[in-house]
Amino acid sequence: MAADRAELSVPEALALLSVELSDDQLALLARYRDLLLEANERMNLTALKSAEAVDSRLVAESLALIPQIGPGPHTLIDVGTGGGVPGLPLAIAMPDSTVVLLDSTAKKLAVVDEMIATLGLDNAQTIHGRAEELAHDAEHRGCYTVVVSRAVARLPVLVEYTLPFLQRGGMAVLPKGQQVEAELREAMNAIDTLGGRLLDLSESPVNGARFVRIAQKRRTPARYPRTPGTPTRQPIGVSTR
Ligand code: SAM
Repeated sequence: MAADRAELSVPEALALLSVELSDDQLALLARYRDLLLEANERMNLTALKSAEAVDSRLVAESLALIPQIGPGPHTLIDVGTGGGVPGLPLAIAMPDSTVVLLDSTAKKLAVVDEMIATLGLDNAQTIHGRAEELAHDAEHRGCYTVVVSRAVARLPVLVEYTLPFLQRGGMAVLPKGQQVEAELREAMNAIDTLGGRLLDLSESPVNGARFVRIAQKRRTPARYPRTPGTPTRQPIGVSTR
């Protein structure tokens, strides 16, 4: 986005998305933004420093997933949530859905736990661990209707982190940057191997982000995800030589 372009406010983004939220939900989103900026003084959760930038680039861009996800209630997992993006704004906006926030960094999740308590969200919970391991845990494997994940890995790796969490008929909604086509071409083999099928690639009305949506058609074969680190070192279907 051009540096001189004004940041989109949350109400402006909601109007573009045709999503309506109550005044209470808007107040919770603003409180979340403030908590994130406060926590960011103690720990690196985002490079963004202003309330306007966090509202636009983190909160509004998270809310832009709502039309992509569609009507709930959902059982949603956010893989690599960091400071709660996009999972916490989604939990605030979709109170009938259950939102699980997964990350491999315990100290980030301690902050997210504090935020959940302060915001009084009873539909959100954190889980600590690596996606490659938790996706083999019977409590999580194949259990979710929706998986989301932002700024965690390139698509060929990201699909191995995310698709094993989905039920058959579930959907991955993966926000990406403008240059997603090359990543998507590289990921097609992995998507098929993991039991998914590309649904669509679309552009968000909020800041021009792109969304990749993948439907889970078959169960992911038991050997995936591979051991921690392997998806990054040897992405499925990508020549690493
Ligand atoms: N999604 C957040 C956002 O958009 O601001 C955080 C993005 S941050 C760049 C990437 C996060 O993914 C980090 O918090 C990291 O700990 C987590 N992560 C990376 N690889 C992971 C894995 N294999 N399993 C679980 N979490 C992972």
